[in-house]
Amino acid sequence: MTLEGQRALVTGGGRGIGRAIAGALTETGARVGILGRDEATLRDAVAAGAAADFAVCDVRDAASVAAALGRLSGGHGFDIAVANAGAVETGPFLRSDAERFRRMVEINLIGTVNLFHAALPAMLERRRGRLIAIASTAGHRGYPYVSAYTAAKHAVIGLVKSLALETARSGVTVNAVCPGYADTDMAAASIDNVAAKTGKSRDDALAALLRDNPQGRLVAPAEVAAAVLYLCGASSDAVTGQSLMINGGEF
Ligand code: NDP
Repeated sequence: MTLEGQRALVTGGGRGIGRAIAGALTETGARVGILGRDEATLRDAVAAGAAADFAVCDVRDAASVAAALGRLSGGHGFDIAVANAGAVETGPFLRSDAERFRRMVEINLIGTVNLFHAALPAMLERRRGRLIAIASTAGHRGYPYVSAYTAAKHAVIGLVKSLALETARSGVTVNAVCPGYADTDMAAASIDNVAAKTGKSRDDALAALLRDNPQGRLVAPAEVAAAVLYLCGASSDAVTGQSLMINGGEF
């Protein structure tokens, strides 16, 4: 697949799933910009060839996101925008106060909204574009002790479904990619958390997390990136408002 001549933007592109997505898009010939909070991580990703350029930016800040997109695209806009930046906090519902829910909504939902607001106008002008949200299997089903994250990811899916209807005749598709537990810092923190709370070994904690995954394994970031590439190509022109589940068959 070639995306030669296209500009792509990936939030949280310095590490984890975002870095795999940025690297895969770069390999297709797209010019990729990445956003994140940590300059050293972003610099490292660019030095490793995963992206062409970066901007230090907190996706919760709409003005910073808009300014970063303007600078990274040279004012031309992006053909592809991937809202990947996200974070998870765990805890029982009764210890998950409104502030935790706000934090989860701010990073996972509002971060996505800010990117889509900044990227969509240029796409509408060109009558072509790809908006992709990295949501989660937690955007489709419930999990105990992660209610705030799960609620925020369900909201991301609602956004994708609604915006896809608004843009259906404009050449812009809007989709979600929903990984199961994937092999990144985020899943490692969840494994450590389960191990600490239950006294289980890391291997047993991992097995507990993967209990509902029929394949019984972590998803590789490259597998999530492959789904993103599919959604960026011309062969997915008719695919919009969808969630591509990359989760070993978990429901
Ligand atoms: P990581 O924790 O490994 O990476 C998170 C990325 O998001 C980092 O690049 C981080 O950059 C960036 N980020 C976090 N907060 C902000 C912010 N406020 N502004 C800008 N960037 C931010 O997570 P993963 O790679 O695992 O996750 C990527 C996406 O996939 C997330 O949306 C996550 O919810 C989703 N997902 C992950 C799963 C998993 O098991 N790993 C499963 C299902 C979904 P930095 O810290 O440098 O700012």
